[in-house]
Amino acid sequence: MANAILTHATIIDCTGADPRPNGWVVIEDQRIKEIGQGKPGVLPAGAEVIDCHGQTLLPGLIDAHVHMGSSDPDFVEMGRRNYPSTLVIKSLKVIKETLDQGFTTARDCGCIDAGYRQAVADGLVPGPRLLVAGTWLTQTGGHGDSRLPTEHGSGHPRGAGGITGICDGVTEVRKGAREQLRQGVDFIKVMAGGGAASPSDELDTSQFSLEELEAAVFEAESAGKYVAAHCYSDRGIKLCCRAGIRTIEHGNLMTESSARAIKESGAFLVPTMATYVMISRMGKELGLPGNFIRKINEALDRAENSLTISVALGLKIGSGSDLLGGMQHFKGLELALQAKIMGPMGALIATTKTNAEIILQEKNLGTIEDGKLADLILVKGDPLKDMGLFQNYRENITLIIQDGKVYKNII
Ligand SMILES: [Zn+2]
Repeated sequence: MANAILTHATIIDCTGADPRPNGWVVIEDQRIKEIGQGKPGVLPAGAEVIDCHGQTLLPGLIDAHVHMGSSDPDFVEMGRRNYPSTLVIKSLKVIKETLDQGFTTARDCGCIDAGYRQAVADGLVPGPRLLVAGTWLTQTGGHGDSRLPTEHGSGHPRGAGGITGICDGVTEVRKGAREQLRQGVDFIKVMAGGGAASPSDELDTSQFSLEELEAAVFEAESAGKYVAAHCYSDRGIKLCCRAGIRTIEHGNLMTESSARAIKESGAFLVPTMATYVMISRMGKELGLPGNFIRKINEALDRAENSLTISVALGLKIGSGSDLLGGMQHFKGLELALQAKIMGPMGALIATTKTNAEIILQEKNLGTIEDGKLADLILVKGDPLKDMGLFQNYRENITLIIQDGKVYKNII
């Protein structure tokens, strides 16, 4: 689709402006050329007309925290239970289903390598435009160390294309970051505190020293990239902020003092609420270990509190789903959960405009404005009144345009 005009749409451009009924958008050469209301002006030559019948047009959604390589909900066991090739094939399904859910861009926070990004960009598989962290960096016994406390040895391959990146000390962290950068990642992911899936740590811990975190930030920034940190605890969040980490992932155990540290450092918070709700609901039937579910419930208990503090302090808040295995098709739930605290427009902006800033793509993505890439979705109904509509994406998302190309049209 070289040139097109979308007509009769209610446009929510996600800049923060009010919805514009009876709007139109002209697409030329994969970019948004013009936006207006009422009767359109002169159209580009040969423009295809797509009548949106009063439905709501939004920028393509962005998920800032996914794990496309997680086709099995148990990250720890996944590498033991599956051949690496099987995991690759399963992850292609997860990637396609993410685009089906209206996410035209996704930031993978660990486990897939740059080859997946390239495969989508080359059109080999349908999927969101990907940004990847490759293998995360973790300390011995950290959230990325999948060895059981009873196990010895150096760990085992895990995930679709990644192995556990255990590194201890500044020199090893530096080397780990450089190795990931050499392999073409978009950012570095560090585990800066305990997590639910890991067998030998608790949520309320910090991991890596200040010097190790600073080494990761130095190496990432030297290459024009940044560091994202998995972190729940006050102590871990504060260390990350001192080290210059750009995005704090999860942040559930945050109190006002660590929220202030985020504010002062200028970091982004990426809350990931959907995964706690879904694991809490489905974890037992999916066979997840009791220790995993216990920690997920602790994180779920504190998720709304942490987001409430963050909104009150005016932090820069993005949005991630962090869903695993067979729960990956609930990505739309994140919007509804965040809307309860941030309001529907706040949740939409987090999932579009702010996430575009997080991934350093604010010039191209995140809003419906002149000159941006034509990543657009059309939804039945008004998301400002019903944020639940994204969950029934097969019916409610009627048009998906990515890079100016129509991927789905059932208007
Ligand atoms: Zn994650």
